[in-house]
Amino acid sequence: MSTTTQQHTVMVIEDEEAFIDALVVGLQREGFGVEVARDGAEALLNFDKVDPDIVLLDVMLPKVSGTDVCREIRKKSQVPIIMVSAKGTELDTVVGLEVGADDYIVKPYRIRELVARVRAALRRSHVTGESPLGSETSVAVGEISIDPDRHVVVVRGQVTKLPLKEFELLYVLMANAGRVMTRDTLIDRVWGSDYYGDTKTLDVHIKRLRSKVETDPGNPVLIQTIRGLGYKFDRVV
Ligand code: CA
Repeated sequence: MSTTTQQHTVMVIEDEEAFIDALVVGLQREGFGVEVARDGAEALLNFDKVDPDIVLLDVMLPKVSGTDVCREIRKKSQVPIIMVSAKGTELDTVVGLEVGADDYIVKPYRIRELVARVRAALRRSHVTGESPLGSETSVAVGEISIDPDRHVVVVRGQVTKLPLKEFELLYVLMANAGRVMTRDTLIDRVWGSDYYGDTKTLDVHIKRLRSKVETDPGNPVLIQTIRGLGYKFDRVV
């Protein structure tokens, strides 16, 4: 802990004191800085000032819902966001993923699992200053091009903004265009091999990507589902 050169700040957006206490203690013990916001309005008010490296966002919040907080943060920041939902509110969590969260975890969770998720998200994040994609070069397939160095995607001549995980997922698919990528491979490459979450996260990210790169997202031709296996980015224009 004391040897870390850079302390990462986790913004905990949570209204239940019992969870707040456990998170603050657990995350600080792991070497993280922690800033707490107790409702959605406070979170949005303080977001710029805190400038977190990662956000833990409860779905059920007073004043402004977690989903709306996520949507607002995404308008201005690519910071990794992990949604936290109680059992029975998973539907809200999927909505959260659809508006730009990177991952989610269901209460009650083990702090160790949460920390693993946080580390996986940070390790893969541009916020750490490392390129999660290594020194990969730009890829262009058909009318889509993606440049990992500049974090730019151009879709049919239009620069398109993508949150971090969507960007990485698109990159992995495009760099392997024409090849079937299994679900496990995609999750490994984008979320890390120690990812604990379920594959719903992958599917929602695919859905979001399709809405941005496909001409007709309801009938995707670029990002194809390969039943029982995974996904493939079509090599043909
Ligand atoms: Ca709550």
